[in-house]
Amino acid sequence: MKNKKPHAFRQYFVLISNPNNATNALAVCSSCIKKYGTLEETRVRPECVTSNRANLCQNHLSKCANFKEYVSSEEVQRILNLSVPEDDKNKKKENIKVNYLKFIK
Ligand SMILES: [Zn+2]
Repeated sequence: MKNKKPHAFRQYFVLISNPNNATNALAVCSSCIKKYGTLEETRVRPECVTSNRANLCQNHLSKCANFKEYVSSEEVQRILNLSVPEDDKNKKKENIKVNYLKFIK
Protein backbone atom coordinates (compact mmCIF):
# COMPACT_ATOMS: atom_id res chain seq x y z
CA MET A 1 0.00 0.00 0.00
CA LYS A 2 0.97 3.61 -0.44
CA ASN A 3 2.47 5.31 2.55
CA LYS A 4 -0.05 7.53 4.29
CA LYS A 5 2.35 9.64 6.26
CA PRO A 6 1.59 13.32 5.66
CA HIS A 7 4.36 15.00 3.76
CA ALA A 8 6.41 17.87 5.16
CA PHE A 9 4.36 20.56 3.41
CA ARG A 10 0.98 19.28 4.49
CA GLN A 11 0.59 21.85 7.26
CA TYR A 12 0.75 24.70 4.75
CA PHE A 13 -2.19 23.36 2.76
CA VAL A 14 -5.87 22.65 3.32
CA LEU A 15 -7.01 19.42 1.72
CA ILE A 16 -10.24 19.26 -0.25
CA SER A 17 -11.73 16.34 -2.12
CA ASN A 18 -10.93 16.06 -5.78
CA PRO A 19 -14.10 15.76 -7.88
CA ASN A 20 -12.12 14.08 -10.65
CA ASN A 21 -10.14 11.65 -8.55
CA ALA A 22 -11.55 10.44 -5.23
CA THR A 23 -8.32 8.82 -4.09
CA ASN A 24 -6.10 11.83 -4.54
CA ALA A 25 -7.09 14.91 -2.55
CA LEU A 26 -6.38 18.42 -3.72
CA ALA A 27 -4.29 20.73 -1.59
CA VAL A 28 -5.16 24.41 -1.38
CA CYS A 29 -2.39 26.69 -0.19
CA SER A 30 -3.12 28.13 3.29
CA SER A 31 -1.24 31.34 2.52
CA CYS A 32 -3.32 31.85 -0.60
CA ILE A 33 -6.49 31.26 1.43
CA LYS A 34 -5.33 33.88 3.87
CA LYS A 35 -4.70 36.25 0.98
CA TYR A 36 -7.99 35.71 -0.84
CA GLY A 37 -10.16 35.41 2.27
CA THR A 38 -11.90 32.05 2.07
CA LEU A 39 -11.33 28.53 0.88
CA GLU A 40 -14.20 28.97 -1.59
CA GLU A 41 -12.52 31.98 -3.16
CA THR A 42 -9.17 30.28 -3.31
CA ARG A 43 -10.06 26.83 -4.59
CA VAL A 44 -11.28 28.29 -7.89
CA ARG A 45 -7.83 29.73 -8.59
CA PRO A 46 -5.84 27.03 -10.36
CA GLU A 47 -2.52 28.55 -9.31
CA CYS A 48 -3.43 28.07 -5.62
CA VAL A 49 -4.49 24.44 -5.91
CA THR A 50 -2.29 21.44 -6.44
CA SER A 51 -2.51 17.69 -6.02
CA ASN A 52 -1.61 16.56 -2.54
CA ARG A 53 1.87 15.41 -3.45
CA ALA A 54 4.97 16.57 -1.62
CA ASN A 55 6.83 17.63 -4.73
CA LEU A 56 3.86 19.54 -6.14
CA CYS A 57 3.17 21.25 -2.83
CA GLN A 58 6.80 22.23 -2.50
CA ASN A 59 6.73 23.52 -6.03
CA HIS A 60 3.73 25.69 -5.24
CA LEU A 61 5.33 27.10 -2.10
CA SER A 62 8.51 27.88 -3.99
CA LYS A 63 6.52 30.09 -6.35
CA CYS A 64 3.86 31.42 -4.00
CA ALA A 65 4.18 35.13 -3.25
CA ASN A 66 1.52 34.83 -0.54
CA PHE A 67 3.50 32.16 1.27
CA LYS A 68 6.51 34.44 1.29
CA GLU A 69 4.36 37.28 2.52
CA TYR A 70 3.02 35.41 5.56
CA VAL A 71 6.02 33.29 6.44
CA SER A 72 9.42 34.66 7.45
CA SER A 73 12.20 34.26 4.91
CA GLU A 74 14.17 31.95 7.23
CA GLU A 75 11.15 29.74 7.53
CA VAL A 76 10.54 29.83 3.78
CA GLN A 77 14.10 28.75 3.18
CA ARG A 78 13.88 25.98 5.75
CA ILE A 79 10.65 24.65 4.31
CA LEU A 80 11.85 24.71 0.72
CA ASN A 81 14.95 22.79 1.72
CA LEU A 82 12.93 19.98 3.28
CA SER A 83 13.35 16.68 1.56
CA VAL A 84 10.59 15.41 -0.67
CA PRO A 85 10.15 11.67 -0.11
CA GLU A 86 8.01 11.16 -3.21
CA ASP A 87 10.51 12.91 -5.39
CA ASP A 88 13.17 10.44 -6.35
CA LYS A 89 14.34 12.53 -9.24
CA ASN A 90 17.02 14.79 -7.87
CA LYS A 91 16.98 16.80 -11.04
CA LYS A 92 13.47 17.98 -10.34
CA LYS A 93 14.43 19.07 -6.86
CA GLU A 94 17.35 21.03 -8.25
CA ASN A 95 15.04 22.80 -10.65
CA ILE A 96 12.82 23.89 -7.79
CA LYS A 97 15.81 25.28 -5.94
CA VAL A 98 17.01 27.10 -9.02
CA ASN A 99 13.58 28.61 -9.56
CA TYR A 100 13.43 29.68 -5.96
CA LEU A 101 16.83 31.32 -6.15
CA LYS A 102 15.76 33.17 -9.26
CA PHE A 103 12.66 34.33 -7.43
CA ILE A 104 14.44 35.83 -4.44
CA LYS A 105 17.01 37.69 -6.50
ZN1 LIG B 1 0.07 29.77 -2.24
